[in-house]
Formats: sequence, structure tokens, C-alpha cells
Amino acid sequence: MSRWPMLSINSDQLVFNANRIIQKCRERNITVTGVTKGLSGHPEFARILLNAGCEWLADSRMDNIYHLKKLFPGIPMMLIRIPMKSEIPSLVEYADSSLVSMKEILPMIERACVERKKTHEIMMMVDLGDLREGLMEKDIHDFARTLRKCPHVMCTGIAVNFGCFGGVIPTPDKLEELIRWGTQLSSELGYEISWYSGGATSTLIRIEDGSLPAGVNHLRIGEAFLLGTDCTGQRDIPYLSQETMILECEVVEIRTKPSVPFGTIGADAFGNIPSFEQRGRRKRAIVAIGKQDLRIEGIEPIAKGIEVLGASSDHLILDVESAEEPLILGDKIGFRVNYGSMLSLSTSSYVNVEFVQKT
Ligand SMILES: *Cc1c(COP(=O)(O)O)cnc(C)c1O
Repeated sequence: MSRWPMLSINSDQLVFNANRIIQKCRERNITVTGVTKGLSGHPEFARILLNAGCEWLADSRMDNIYHLKKLFPGIPMMLIRIPMKSEIPSLVEYADSSLVSMKEILPMIERACVERKKTHEIMMMVDLGDLREGLMEKDIHDFARTLRKCPHVMCTGIAVNFGCFGGVIPTPDKLEELIRWGTQLSSELGYEISWYSGGATSTLIRIEDGSLPAGVNHLRIGEAFLLGTDCTGQRDIPYLSQETMILECEVVEIRTKPSVPFGTIGADAFGNIPSFEQRGRRKRAIVAIGKQDLRIEGIEPIAKGIEVLGASSDHLILDVESAEEPLILGDKIGFRVNYGSMLSLSTSSYVNVEFVQKT
């Protein structure tokens, strides 16, 4: 098969980001768990995180955890999507810890632990307003009561997520609330929990501006390592590299065509009625990648004068009329990607993910 389309990842830049993040967090006694889901649990990314000093890896998918556990048997693995009932046996078998928001899951984990003569660690997942997963303050009491009946399930911490669904920012008051809820959890459990896990990449801003409440001692970071960005905060993180990866796609057609379709118009391949701006005849290029592989809204051509017009399942259509460099059949066109696009690319089995070293 061809090497293209290729998501070309610059290892040195990932190593740079990993070292910076872990060092910044370490200075403030924050332990970082490296989240691998953005690249579908890619082992090379996992290796970079471990070399940089992550003692712990996390992913949202049991499949990724299973594969990583085989490669790195000694490394603790955490499932960060609250578990499905149907995956509890594999959770206990291959993951060391997980985030849990439903107390009903606890006895099921307990049973799976007893059957396998294992123990499992959890962090209680709370919702401080983002309205994705997590329990509310009034639920802490019952959660703790259920936990006390599950001797093989150790509650090691409390965790919260921001920015993922409701777009809620991890402000200091929210994180103070995490500490309060954790203190209540500890007192109901009768032992101190170790971890106050204050979120993900979007919480790094609190370290930078010095407003992270004392007591928050754990973060689960993915995006910042991979892209150097903070999507929720809508910013590039100033001390990180954003030049971490490039999508390269190959030109399969290059031709001057009208800018508006001609003929009787129905719906496109995805059921949308397309609309077009009249710009006369324009040179366009097709590159071999499509919506099956890629969330096209999240890419940006690197060369000036190239514009994304749209895509079908397998064809990405570009306006190259103003491209500074002339393009011919077989040329590779480079794109920057955002988190959503990276995620879709790493999931597609038609895209080659390559780690290269070039500083
Ligand atoms: C995805 C995810 C993370 C990592 O988020 P980033 O924004 O990539 O740093 C952390 N925690 C949970 C629960 C997640 O789902």
C-alpha cells in the first residue's frame, strides 16, 4: 500500500512538550497522567510519555488499554471513560484504575475483583457544571456508603472534567469545590483519599497564572502533549510547540473547473444540499483522503493560497488557483490538524501514522 495519506508526527516536538508539561507540573507537586486516546493509544506516543516521566497512562477505550498493557505490563493504566457494565471483566483484568460516577457499578467491580483475586482503584468522578459525566454533591454520601461495602475497590481520589461538553472553564472556585467535595468523601470513607484530579489540558492555565488551589495534585493531560493547544481556552499554550504533526495527502487530480456545479442539483453524499459561490473557472486539486478518515472542518493547509472546498467520503477538494507553488499530480499537500481531526485520522485504518525525528 501507499504511505499516504500520512499523519506525520514529529517525535522531538512531542518529547519537548512532554518534558515541559511534566516539569511545570512537577514544580507544583502535580502528578500527570498521560492520556493516549487522542492518537488511539499509539504505543510510540505512550513510550514518549513514559520516557518523559509519566508514571501512569490513561485512555478512554478498553481496546487501547488492552494493547498498551501488553506492551508496558508494569505501567499503571487508567480507564477515563466511566465504564460500561459490559466491560467490567476486562476493566479489572487489564486496567489498574478507573473513573466512576455510578455507585451501581461499584458492586459489579467488587464482584469481578473477587472472581479474579484482584483489587481495583477508582477515583470518584464529579460534575462541577460541565454536565458530562460525574455525580452531584448530594450523591457523595450514598457513593461512599456503597464503596465501604466493596473492600476490593479502593477509592484513591476525586476527579472532575471541564470543557468537554458544556465548555465550562476550570475556574479557581470550581477547583476549591473539588477540594471540599473530596474532603467530605474522605471523611465519609474514614480514610484520606490521595488524589485530587483537577481536570485535563484546560486546567493548565491555572498553573500558569498561579491560581490553582493548593490540594489539586493530579491532572490527566492529552491535548497539550499532542498539539500544544488548549481547545477549551481557545489558545496556543505559550511554552509548548504547536509544530507537532502534519497531515500529508497526495494529489490525484488537478484541473481547472467552474466553481459552481452545473446540472440539476440534488443532495450530496451526506444528504446536504450544497451551495456554492460563483468565482468563475478555478484551478482545483483533489487529494486522496475523505470524510471517512477525517473531520475536515479541523484542517488547515500549510501552504498559502490553498483553500479547502469540501469533501466526500474519499475525496478532499481544494481550490489551488492562488497556490504559491505550482502543483502537479502526485504532489503531497500538508495540513495542520486540530484535536478532532487528529482523533479521526488516528482512528482511520486508511491513514498511516508515522513518527519521524526532525527538529
Ligand atoms: C479526554 C480526557 C482527558 C484528557 O483531555 P485533554 O483535553 O486531551 O487533555 C482527561 N480526562 C478525561 C475524563 C477525558 O475524557
